[in-house]
Amino acid sequence: MLTNKTAVVTGGTRGIGFSIVKTYLENGANVAIAGSRQETVEKAISQLPKYKGRVMGIWPDLCAPKAVAQAFSSVKERYGSLDILANNAGISSRTSLYDYTLEEFSKILDLNLKAVFVCSQAAARIMKKQGGGVIINTSSMVGEYGQPSGCGYPATKFAVNGLTKSLARELAKDQIRVNAVAPGVTKTDMVAALPQELVERISAGIPLGRVGEPADVANAYLYLASPMASYVTGIVLRVDGAAMT
Ligand code: NAD
Repeated sequence: MLTNKTAVVTGGTRGIGFSIVKTYLENGANVAIAGSRQETVEKAISQLPKYKGRVMGIWPDLCAPKAVAQAFSSVKERYGSLDILANNAGISSRTSLYDYTLEEFSKILDLNLKAVFVCSQAAARIMKKQGGGVIINTSSMVGEYGQPSGCGYPATKFAVNGLTKSLARELAKDQIRVNAVAPGVTKTDMVAALPQELVERISAGIPLGRVGEPADVANAYLYLASPMASYVTGIVLRVDGAAMT
């Protein structure tokens, strides 16, 4: 579905991001894994020997416009285009409002929102010149409902939805589609860090009767990146087993 396409996947070293990387590679794309450190990016690439030559690594500070622009240019130089940006990197928090420091609030805002803006801008500049592309952002089901602690996290995901819908309208004239995927509880390190009791309580309320697998989310990323979604822009696609409805 993605033959001759090139994708950048931020936070592609593990969890949902690594699953997106594998799904895109399986479907013929070239993929650049964007991580925070060279070491983790190289470790992720070493787990993909089958795709040698079609996968590369970059590790710019995702909030630094110049570094991101340079890294994305290097991807275009290597593979000839940059067609898909998956803004997946994100961090979570469950800190109570009473204990939340401004430093922690800024940190979550930086990666979950500012980096999405910076990466989207750098990618869109390349995609516009090329005649089009696809940007897919990672929201969350808590970007619709909020959550009872860690207010910074849902706040960033509500903002990601706003950015998605606005950029879809702004960039449509340049044939750049912009959508978001809103996962429910998905089996990754982020979920492993939650108290088991909380995961069980959330899972019990999921109509499909289970938490999501990273591949469930990656398949939504595949659909939205592919020509199958050629007339789809500005949506937030929930992949949550109908949780909390
Ligand atoms: P994870 O912790 O397993 O992976 C996060 C990824 O982001 C890692 O690859 C990590 O290296 C990367 N990352 C962290 N800080 C970074 C930085 N400064 N620069 C670049 N990369 C950085 O998390 P996950 O569960 O796979 O989450 C991926 C996305 O899905 C996040 O945006 C998260 O908010 C969202 N999400 C996850 C769930 C879930 O239940 N797992 C639910 C809803 C939304």
